[in-house]
Amino acid sequence: MVTDTPLQLRKIVEIFKEICTDRHVYTKKEDLLMYGRDQTLNFHLPFDILVKPGSPKEISSILKVCNEYNLPITPRGGGSGVTGGALPVHGGVVLSLERLNRIIDINKVDGYVIAESGVITANLCNCVERHDLYFPVFPSSGAYSFIGGNVAENAGSINSCKYGTTSKYVLNLEVVLPSGEIIWTGANVLKNATGLNLTPLFVGSEGILGIITKVVYQLLPKPKPEVTLLAGFKTLKEACDAVINIKKSSIIPSGVELICLNAIKLTAEYLNEELPLVAKNLDAHLLISLQEPSVIEINYTLEIIISILEKYTQEDILVAQTDAEKEKINRLRLNIGNALTNNGRRYRDVDVCVPLSILFDYINKIESICMENDINVVCFGHALDGNLHTNLVFNNNTNFSDDTPIKNVLNELYQYAISKGGVISGEHGIGMLQNDFLALQFSPAHLALMQSIKHLFDPNNIMNPGKILK
Ligand SMILES: Cc1cc2nc3c(=O)[nH]c(=O)nc-3n(C[C@H](O)[C@H](O)[C@H](O)COP(=O)(O)OP(=O)(O)OC[C@H]3O[C@@H](n4cnc5c(N)ncnc54)[C@H](O)[C@@H]3O)c2cc1C
Repeated sequence: MVTDTPLQLRKIVEIFKEICTDRHVYTKKEDLLMYGRDQTLNFHLPFDILVKPGSPKEISSILKVCNEYNLPITPRGGGSGVTGGALPVHGGVVLSLERLNRIIDINKVDGYVIAESGVITANLCNCVERHDLYFPVFPSSGAYSFIGGNVAENAGSINSCKYGTTSKYVLNLEVVLPSGEIIWTGANVLKNATGLNLTPLFVGSEGILGIITKVVYQLLPKPKPEVTLLAGFKTLKEACDAVINIKKSSIIPSGVELICLNAIKLTAEYLNEELPLVAKNLDAHLLISLQEPSVIEINYTLEIIISILEKYTQEDILVAQTDAEKEKINRLRLNIGNALTNNGRRYRDVDVCVPLSILFDYINKIESICMENDINVVCFGHALDGNLHTNLVFNNNTNFSDDTPIKNVLNELYQYAISKGGVISGEHGIGMLQNDFLALQFSPAHLALMQSIKHLFDPNNIMNPGKILK
């Protein structure tokens, strides 16, 4: 219990009920249960009060109370995070954005959408597509992650190699600051050189600087339906060389996903899918997707891609001709996460991003470190971005109470990636899992600057304490 006394807790609950009515304030264990978890290992953290406000004004009042009582508060989106960002490390209050779920305006002339931060990613994407517009950043968790969560994590997606990550599309944010003040960070225009740019500071801030309540995303014209293909390679080296040569070519596919042998086996088993998909005895697959404005351009891109792939594999390349074939190939990639957690398995997210030129060396390195330490590693992910998910996988009876061996492995791995110009996280953030490693990436001066920024926004350290910075 974080609050000083049950009496004080009761008082705060009563104030919260005045702010957002009795129906939206919860304290019973069974109501809180799901909100003390996200998708991070098997963590389940206790806390005191769950609030589900319905407006920025209510959030502002709640934050003022938290400041007055020095009460930690953790913003929560869809709870799909894998680094524990939405877990209430210091108990206190969890604030769910789920009631802020309206798409407010789609402006076709100026090419943007304004939506509340609790809109589910898939709902936003489907809605803008009905207006012949396109929002390209669809994380594999898009069926349940919220757009505010995506902004707070600077989420990426399979097609980020062509379109970039969330930060590229955020024009403006409505944010409730820890003090309770409500600001807009930018403007709904395509160019803005007016003063210090606060918008990028909030993108990727993981809820430690304020609560994002509205998002303005720039939109693109809707491309033609995607073409998907799957190529298999006898060796991982050939697959990585093919990716490098795609990068050097004149075309940019919307997705180039590497699926290593262990990932495809695990997922085929989970989906009850027959292997091989393209040929026997393959070490790696590349799942490639192409999106272009016209069919002519898609065909041109397809021709170039196939000519590159054929230099590195002698196997047939499966180009999905029908929606069913496309679905079958994509299902494999999108279910790797589910396969990893099947049968009670747990995985420790590893989301390193490295320069593409060292991708092959990085995979070899992690495989050898994990073999030495008797840990299973499953490799898949955004190859063209150099952002592989090289997750450490554990069976259901693993005890995580002493995670020193895992931390030792990660320490070695992160040091290697950083020494080659890489970063600890490409898209999943730091949360509560990775903050021990931040000092590997940044100098003391750099870290102190981050701490000062946090202190400036949140002098009482009520906003999502224990995340990113210790
Ligand atoms: C199967 C699976 C697939 C995934 N695929 C991808 C992928 O392709 N790409 C990718 O980038 N990630 C992926 N993720 C990770 C995760 O889905 C993303 O990080 C996602 O953006 C989190 O959104 P959320 O709404 O669930 O946020 P949550 O998990 O609820 O919260 C994440 C962080 O954001 C903060 N936060 C949430 N909402 C707000 C707000 N309104 N204001 C301020 N702070 C807020 C929280 O405090 C927390 O620190 C995947 C996860 C899973 C389980």
